[in-house]
Amino acid sequence: MREVGCPEKILFTFLSLKRQEDLGYQNILSSMCTPPHPVAARAHAMFLETNLGDPGLFPGTAALERLLVQRLAALMHLPEAGGYATSGGTESNIQAFRIAKKQKPVKFPNAVVPASGHFSFQKASDILGVETRTVPLDAEFRMDTEAIDDLVDKNTVALIGVAGTTEYGVVDPIAHLSDLALDREIFLHVDAAFGGLVIPFLDRQIPFDFRLPGVDSISIDPHKMGMSTIPAGCLLVRDPEYFSSLYVDTPYLTVKQEYTLAGTRPGASVAAAFAVLEYLGMDGMRAVITGCMENCRRLIEGMETLGYERAVTPDVNVATFSCDRAPAGWRVSKTRAGHMRIICMPHVNRDVVEAFLGDMSDLDA
Ligand SMILES: *Cc1c(COP(=O)(O)O)cnc(C)c1O
Repeated sequence: MREVGCPEKILFTFLSLKRQEDLGYQNILSSMCTPPHPVAARAHAMFLETNLGDPGLFPGTAALERLLVQRLAALMHLPEAGGYATSGGTESNIQAFRIAKKQKPVKFPNAVVPASGHFSFQKASDILGVETRTVPLDAEFRMDTEAIDDLVDKNTVALIGVAGTTEYGVVDPIAHLSDLALDREIFLHVDAAFGGLVIPFLDRQIPFDFRLPGVDSISIDPHKMGMSTIPAGCLLVRDPEYFSSLYVDTPYLTVKQEYTLAGTRPGASVAAAFAVLEYLGMDGMRAVITGCMENCRRLIEGMETLGYERAVTPDVNVATFSCDRAPAGWRVSKTRAGHMRIICMPHVNRDVVEAFLGDMSDLDA
């Protein structure tokens, strides 16, 4: 550290220079995050100093967390589900693994995870000493149901399905997984970190939530399609009692025990997440999602007109193509299999899509 502090003016000039090095969202087509909704930014600023790690000191903020959980639980069709605000899909997935492992204490636990599973599952299995068994995908990048049976055995503590895969935006056959989970008595976790705030607002209903009786827990991230500030994730569990298996004693806090992974936890992004859902309502969310899906379809159609075929028709707003070049000035990403990947987030509006398609077509000129 400096011996003597830096004058504020100089400091903020430096900060603003660094901030200018960041890319603006307008040309980022590769991110599952988006600029926060103005209502989220406003709520975030109001709750800046709140700490949900000691909820007895911030009962108002803690009540907002419960409301956020209630809203998301109702959206997942189980208003009485348990849940808490996490730092995102990674923490939710790790915690779901922990619960699953506690439910079935075996010596050599394994988890059956689709090849499309987010890399957070690798972290979870490493931390928890759970072997991961990878399920191959079918031609449309969904978990191949045929292959699951051979991978499940008496040491399988968790089965994972993804509702809106990170790379291809498809939903695994969760109804099938639910039947299997009930039949073989395995904990089923649905990773809907991205799709959880998309699928409920689609015209076409895709089963993935607590309406399927085998689903035990769900990850759902307000800091992605929920347009909240970062970090805002949520882990929902069918039975609130699941959390009691994670309790540790917290001697010097206002609560005596906690089950969260993080200790000190931000209230600001939780208030922000709640504020967006409350402000937009089902109607407003449906409008946002409808727009993103329309832009996604337009992008796919435009790319195919230019001769770049889609890798798959996605269920949510993630478009992928057989295309290995991109015009300068745009950030796109690549899947592990080498497809170009574009997430049609709210900031990727119609004008952005048309501008990108225009630049793509100029590549050939
Ligand atoms: C983004 C994502 C995650 C990880 O979420 P973070 O908030 O980045 O920790 C996990 N699973 C899926 C399906 C995701 O899309």
